[in-house]
Amino acid sequence: MTYQSVNPATGKLLKKFEELTDKELESKLATAAACYEVWRRKTYAERAVIVAKAAAIMHTKADEFAHTMTLEMGKRIGEARGEVEFSSNILAYYAKNAEHFLANVELHPTMGDGHMESSPIGLVFCVEPWNFPYYQLARVAGPHLMAGNVVLVKHAGIVPQCAIAYEKLWIEAGAPVGLYTNLLISHDQSDRVVDDPRIKGVALTGSVAAGRSIAARAGKNLKPSSMELGGSDAFIVLEDADLDHTIKWAVWGRMYNTGQTCCAAKRFIVVEKLADKFLDKFQAALAALKPGDPLEEKTTLGPLSSESALVDLLKQVDVAVSHGAKVIMGGKRIDRPGSFMQPTILTDVKPGNPAFRDEFFGPVAMFFKVKDEDAAIALANDSDFGLGGSVFTKDLARGKRVASRVDTGMMFINSISWSDAELPFGGIKNSGYGRELGDMGIQEFVNKKLVRYVAAEAPM
Ligand code: NAP
Repeated sequence: MTYQSVNPATGKLLKKFEELTDKELESKLATAAACYEVWRRKTYAERAVIVAKAAAIMHTKADEFAHTMTLEMGKRIGEARGEVEFSSNILAYYAKNAEHFLANVELHPTMGDGHMESSPIGLVFCVEPWNFPYYQLARVAGPHLMAGNVVLVKHAGIVPQCAIAYEKLWIEAGAPVGLYTNLLISHDQSDRVVDDPRIKGVALTGSVAAGRSIAARAGKNLKPSSMELGGSDAFIVLEDADLDHTIKWAVWGRMYNTGQTCCAAKRFIVVEKLADKFLDKFQAALAALKPGDPLEEKTTLGPLSSESALVDLLKQVDVAVSHGAKVIMGGKRIDRPGSFMQPTILTDVKPGNPAFRDEFFGPVAMFFKVKDEDAAIALANDSDFGLGGSVFTKDLARGKRVASRVDTGMMFINSISWSDAELPFGGIKNSGYGRELGDMGIQEFVNKKLVRYVAAEAPM
């Protein structure tokens, strides 16, 4: 059964869910298509009433939403609450700004006049991951519903309760049935949804493998798609960085959400003058984290999202070691119930080691000592991924210069404040294409239509 809710802090099965039958799936697609015909004709103000209401409900019921998330995928409760509040803010942001973002843009052609208008395209199918069970959904629901599209979501198999809670949120907010549809479906059914002529756009956030599969399917059907995939972000520390400030971000950047974040700091690239001191302090700070129940506020190290995530990560560390990497701390599961892993640091990861190019989706940091700024940039760019990255230096101009030379979709200087409703999020290379959030995020699945008016006779 694909959809199972298991508490990764205890290993206890909470609930199982049946997948939809093909007949049920067809009925949901038909309902969504009928809903679109009504929703597309609503004004922005009418749409905003429902989207803003959903934002308000998330805010009011933040504890309830957060609790479901923590039980189902192990996020520490404080982080879970923060995610719910942020998801609410994203909805409120699009309720407020969509009309402005999608307003007609006047053009000034050589003859006559014209404008670009933005209209909805129809049903958008979204495939989403478990690591941010609500934030990922807000990133697609907020913009695309406000644009006049309707949304159907295939959420990850391990977070069905979050998926169902989010669908209920829309009903409670007064959304017509079919506006937001949760689909508990298999990968095969998902392929058929992509093929379905009623689906006009496909958005996926997930692994590179899933991205390749769904993007290929969308491409075959000539449907626009956006892909938010993995990353192996560089955390560059230059010799003039404020070390204490930097260490706090290093720990947060690697360990937030137990390291299961696409744009987490994964490769720590430190200029040699600071490298040894950085490593000592980083190791000490990681060693101070205490595993515990993620529902307890005082816990500083939560479990991974599932037992299979832990087993896969431990295997990945073993493979790295068999190719010459050294484990200077951690590397093992923690001896307690649940899927907990020791914070881990790998050194001596050389080109040719699979770890050099892979993403570690959990509490595993790779550490590299480099000669200088140029060597740091070269190493940061020697990656198949291009999602985000960060640079730490007291010289802001230098930080901006380095940020410009790193080939990623996002760079952060002296912090890793990844995401904000207003800031476009996304990557290049194997990290995908397209952007979510901000003004750009709402432009992904709209028809940019040219309307031109010229008072001219046809040429003979
Ligand atoms: P995943 O295995 O790719 O799963 C993501 C979603 O895709 C799930 O809903 C999954 O469903 C579905 N899926 C996977 N293969 C599919 C297929 N062939 N057909 C249809 N659906 C398919 O990724 P994950 O391990 O859950 O998530 C972690 C990955 O997501 C990491 O690589 C991370 O970096 C990336 N991520 C990227 C961003 C970003 O914005 N760039 C944000 C968060 C996460 P099932 O669960 O049913 O298999």
